[in-house]
This record gives sequence, C-alpha cells and structure tokens, in this order.
Amino acid sequence: MGEVLVLVDHVDGAVRKPTLELLTLARRIGEPVAVFLGAGVDTAAPVLAEYGAVKVLAADAAEFADYLVVPKVDALQAAAKAVEPVAVLVPSSAEGKEIAARLALRLGSGIITDATDVEPGDGGPVATQAVFAASFTTKSRITTGVPVITVKPNSAAPEAAPAAGTVEQLAVSFGELATGTKVLTRTPRESTGRPELTEAAIVVSGGRGVNGAENFHIIEALADSLGAAVGASRAAVDAGWYPHTNQVGQTGKSVSPQLYVANGISGAIQHRAGMQTSKTIVAVNKDAEAPIFDLVDYGVVGDLFQVVPQLTEEITARKG
Ligand SMILES: Cc1cc2nc3c(=O)[nH]c(=O)nc-3n(C[C@H](O)[C@H](O)[C@H](O)COP(=O)(O)OP(=O)(O)OC[C@H]3O[C@@H](n4cnc5c(N)ncnc54)[C@H](O)[C@@H]3O)c2cc1C
Repeated sequence: MGEVLVLVDHVDGAVRKPTLELLTLARRIGEPVAVFLGAGVDTAAPVLAEYGAVKVLAADAAEFADYLVVPKVDALQAAAKAVEPVAVLVPSSAEGKEIAARLALRLGSGIITDATDVEPGDGGPVATQAVFAASFTTKSRITTGVPVITVKPNSAAPEAAPAAGTVEQLAVSFGELATGTKVLTRTPRESTGRPELTEAAIVVSGGRGVNGAENFHIIEALADSLGAAVGASRAAVDAGWYPHTNQVGQTGKSVSPQLYVANGISGAIQHRAGMQTSKTIVAVNKDAEAPIFDLVDYGVVGDLFQVVPQLTEEITARKG
C-alpha cells in the first residue's frame, strides 16, 4: 500500500481535530504519513501515531511562522519528493486550500477541494464533493499526477488506530518566493469560549428572524447548551447583529457539522451553499412555506422566541 501525506494543522503542537479526521480517511487509501511543520512535534507525534501515522515528517524553521503559505508549500513539496505518495490530503481551511493549490501546480497534479469523503477506487482515490451550491453530489478522481485533495472538517469521525509514528526530520530548502509575504504582527482573536465555526460539530445559526442584535443571546444560549458554534445569515450580519466572521454561506464560511440548527433563516440558495452538507439539519421558522424546510431533517414551524428558549431549557435540564 502506498503512503498518503497528511498536512498537520496544529497550534504549537496541539493537533486540531480535522487532522485526525484526515488521518482516518488516509488509512482507507494508504499508509498515513503526517507532515508536521513548525514547533511542537514532541507534543504532536504521540497523537498523530495514535490516529494512524506510520511516520511523522517534521521540519521546524522560523519561515513557517514568519511568512505566509509558501514555506509550507516548499516543505510539502519536499515531503512529496521524499515519499512519492499516492495522495496528499490537506485540511480545507483557507490556508490549506491555498497550500494545496500551489502544491498541485508544482507537482503538475490535479486538485480536488472541499471533499466531504475520500474512498479507494480502481484508478486512485475517489472524492465526494457537494457542488453548485450543494445542489449536486459528485464523485471525482484525479487522473494526472499525485492526487491533492482538501477535505472539509467533520467529514469523518476520527478513529484511533495506533501506528509507529516514527519522527523523521524533513530537509526543506526555501525558494525565493517563500519570503515574499512577511507576517508583521499577530493579534490573537478574543476567545468566545465556543468552538471554531468551521470545525464545530454543532452549529446554531440565527437569521433575520432573530430581529436584532439584542436578541442574539437567545441563539447563543442554545449554542452554549449544546457546546456549539454560532453562525448567522448574511441578512443578520449585514444588519450588524452579528460579526461578519460568523457568516455562513456562499460568501461566508462553509460549515459541515454533524448538526446544524437554523433559526429564523429562510434558506436562500446562498445560505444553503455554506451549510447543506451538514449531517442533520434542524430549522425553526414561523413560515411553514420557508424554503429551508425543503432540506431539513427536522423542522419546527413556530416563533423562535417561543421555541428556542424552551429548547435550550430542555437541553440544559436533560444535561442535568
Ligand atoms: C452574491 C450573494 C451572496 C450571498 N451570500 C450569502 C451568504 O454567504 N450567506 C447568507 O446567509 N446569505 C447570502 N446571501 C443573501 C441571501 O440571498 C439571503 O438574502 C439571506 O440568506 C437571507 O437571510 P435570512 O434567511 O436570515 O433572511 P430572510 O430571507 O429575510 O428570512 C428570514 C426568515 O425568518 C423567518 N422568521 C421571521 N421572524 C421569525 C420568528 N419570530 N420566528 C421564526 N422565524 C422567523 C421568516 O419566516 C423568514 O423565513 C447572498 C446573496 C447574494 C446575492
């Protein structure tokens, strides 16, 4: 079985969940080899091994933190040269997609972005995607070069499968482009204590039906009872009721949680584009004809100001 490179997403060695999902998917199509860039490999390696990495290729250099994506592309290209993988899997974050695109270009390979599943196929890995505002599900395979595939968070449940996880140093020489865009300052975002929207297993969103910034606490309370992230429709964001960083949709963030709860959201195509691959969709809307009800698994026709607080209360009570 060939080796599959998995680019590790981490914060100072703390491996983020999408990487564990990628390792789980990688095992279906080959032997996962994790590529760890930056500081903290000692912390990360045991976790990567627990989730199936047979090997961890590690490189640490100031360039990874001081410059934007290109140093990581240089490193991944070096890893691809060292390993000759059957595929490269990268998390579908904004950074991950840029790295993947640049890598595919350099390798002369095809690329598939935002896959929601990866499985073995006769001619190489087959990726599932939701396309055209998630109106169609496609299965595709790359026919040229080493398949480079970015995978959306929450596409697989991470499964432990202990492997050797032997750490090997990866030699990287940075090209001229690597130092083209320097990071001058970093400002940590104030933590809300809630999970990252694009990675959250549960997302609770509010739309125009929430009717004001002052009412969004109802949505936040439901989110907190479920340990969820808070999303918003563009109408709510444009009205200034919730930050732009929380917008879900075509021009906002794309989420793919296990559970998506839409409150006071009509279900416009541009909103669906960002949430339609959610595993289970629940909507609360007072209009029984709202288009959101066409795609839900469970729908409540009712006033969110009545329904949502009761739901929060019930969930909180059952949690005991
Ligand atoms: C190029 C482009 C890109 C776009 N990108 C995005 C995007 O990324 N994300 C996005 O969301 N939109 C996007 N839009 C906007 C999109 O077309 C819709 O206008 C928007 O999604 C509507 O938001 P909404 O559902 O909250 O509001 P509305 O469509 O006004 O729906 C509000 C809903 O709330 C219900 N409601 C009202 N009061 C209550 C109550 N008390 N209880 C329960 N239900 C209630 C109503 O019945 C209604 O269904 C984009 C549009 C364009 C043209």
